[in-house]
Amino acid sequence: MKLIDGKKIAQSLRETLTKEIKTLKAKHNNVPGLAVVQVGDVAASSVYVKAKTKNAKEVGINVFDHHLDENITEKELLDLINKLNTQEDVDGILVQLPLPKNINEQKVLDTIKPSKDADGFHPLNVGKLSIASHNDENLLIPCTPYGVLIMLKELKIDLIGKNAVIVGRSNIVGKPMAQLLVKESCTVTIAHSKTKELQKICKNADIIVAAVGKPKMIKDGWVKEGAIVLDVGINRIQVQKDGKIKNILVGDVDFQEVKNTASAITPVPGGVGPMTIACLLRNTTIAFKNKYT
Ligand code: NDP
Repeated sequence: MKLIDGKKIAQSLRETLTKEIKTLKAKHNNVPGLAVVQVGDVAASSVYVKAKTKNAKEVGINVFDHHLDENITEKELLDLINKLNTQEDVDGILVQLPLPKNINEQKVLDTIKPSKDADGFHPLNVGKLSIASHNDENLLIPCTPYGVLIMLKELKIDLIGKNAVIVGRSNIVGKPMAQLLVKESCTVTIAHSKTKELQKICKNADIIVAAVGKPKMIKDGWVKEGAIVLDVGINRIQVQKDGKIKNILVGDVDFQEVKNTASAITPVPGGVGPMTIACLLRNTTIAFKNKYT
């Protein structure tokens, strides 16, 4: 079994970006700028925002931090987005999800100028992704599925005609993942909570992408010998260790069970997570470059 090391692949992507940003700075006397918008203090969001900010600064991206009170109104948030849309030195806008319940998430994402959509969630960018003729190099593609694709490509296997099963149909992971794998000429099945005989469907897959949000749901009996398993899930669970209760992160795949059957598998943590952040930095750099073309 090969462990797909997301930390290492993400580091290599960041190194490439660091060099590229240096070259861009020499050429344009300017570097990409990323506005990071967080509303409230959801603990997981704060962890992600901190990691994204740190990584962005390390590769040479300017970060504009906007940490807003959880009681902000939808209008106030939309006003900020509209301001960032016109701010010259902001190339990418990231709104950390989830947003408080009184704010319509889709309305916020729709307000982000498509050319500054660092997460690739705007309907225009989603549409471009689904139209296969667009060149990936200039597209703002949702970060998590693009990170998964990079990891798959690192395996240097022929993806053409492979049976890929994606468990989860969210707008941010499952659906764009399907678009990317169809583009690679995989035969794609998208499964979800209403799917019948999910285990049987997974067992037929050459590639499984798990994006469900259910700890260790995918067990050994679900995976074909030699399949590639990419685990997007990040679930916080409590375990008892040395007589103490500890919080740990696990994926949607039961790693210990599946690792001996899969030919390659991502760990959690240290798999897809770091790739998501690296791809956010990539999108910000693409948005900056697109400004000059
Ligand atoms: P969502 O909750 O938006 O979507 C979950 C999907 O899983 C839905 O399509 C749902 O089906 C499906 N589902 C739920 N239960 C089952 C089941 N029993 N059998 C089959 N399908 C099921 O989650 P996200 O896509 O946002 O995230 C998925 C996981 O990935 C989470 O753990 C999240 O934390 C993690 N994540 C990790 C990232 C990273 O960087 N590594 C980034 C983003 C997310 P239905 O549509 O029918 O409800």
